[in-house]
Amino acid sequence: MDLGIKGKRALVCASSKGLGLACATALAEAGVDLVMNARGSEALEAAAADLRGRFGVSIDTVAVDVTSEEGQAKLIEAAQGVDILVNNAGGPPPGMWTDWDRDDFVSALDANMLTPIALMKALVPGMIDKGWGRVVNITSQSVKAPIAVLGLSNSARAGLTGYVAGMSRQVAPNGVCINNLLPGSHSTDRIDGLDTGVAAKSGISFDEARAARQATIPVGHDGNPRDFGATCAFMCSQFAAFMVGQNILLDGGNVNATL
Ligand code: NAP
Repeated sequence: MDLGIKGKRALVCASSKGLGLACATALAEAGVDLVMNARGSEALEAAAADLRGRFGVSIDTVAVDVTSEEGQAKLIEAAQGVDILVNNAGGPPPGMWTDWDRDDFVSALDANMLTPIALMKALVPGMIDKGWGRVVNITSQSVKAPIAVLGLSNSARAGLTGYVAGMSRQVAPNGVCINNLLPGSHSTDRIDGLDTGVAAKSGISFDEARAARQATIPVGHDGNPRDFGATCAFMCSQFAAFMVGQNILLDGGNVNATL
């Protein structure tokens, strides 16, 4: 299927590995030129070289912390005029409700709410000028159903979701479609880290922790980042022109809800 976005340009944040890389890969396959980002330059340059070689698209790399003001300034400069923005960053650490103080909340809000808002504020005006744009915010299934140990993530992502619900309707008349993509458990370094933490805390092996978690997912396994990337590319395509302010859940049926 031709997504109709060949020759467009996208900023994909936090994209040297995991879900961000999967989104960058699917967009590159659709012929989209990219600005890729991560803090570590080694994996970032390797990922960019791989995608250039496989898909022949042009790729700029910006090795900065997307959650810092200086990092955002560099990214915004490199990404001026992009047609597509995929917001992503690392997730906050797990814990108990008693673990977190004000500074922890400020960090989580900065990373998973205020950073995507800052990038939208900087780059959506250029999309409005062209009369066409797409934004996908990678959030989490925790927006639909809380994951108790991820209280910082639950809070920050719910805040972003509320903001997007309003903003997406304000920019829709200008041809800019903003939506959120909600991952359930996917096979990435992040889920490996969470399973390692559960195993250590519960005195069980990594494999036992993983099997117990996967047994709660109706499909019985974690999601494939490749499929996540393909969904993101569709949400950035010409065919997403009627999708506004939606929260698209990819969780193997894990959230037990009718809607
Ligand atoms: P991952 O496998 O750990 O990959 C994270 C990627 O983001 C890496 O490329 C990393 O590179 C980059 N990154 C992290 N922090 C960054 C920062 N501050 N600035 C720039 N780049 C940064 O994570 P993932 O599984 O793809 O998860 C992506 C997002 O989805 C996270 O917010 C996570 O909480 C959320 N999520 C994931 C799952 C899941 O099952 N995987 C489920 C629900 C929600 P550097 O380390 O070099 O910066």
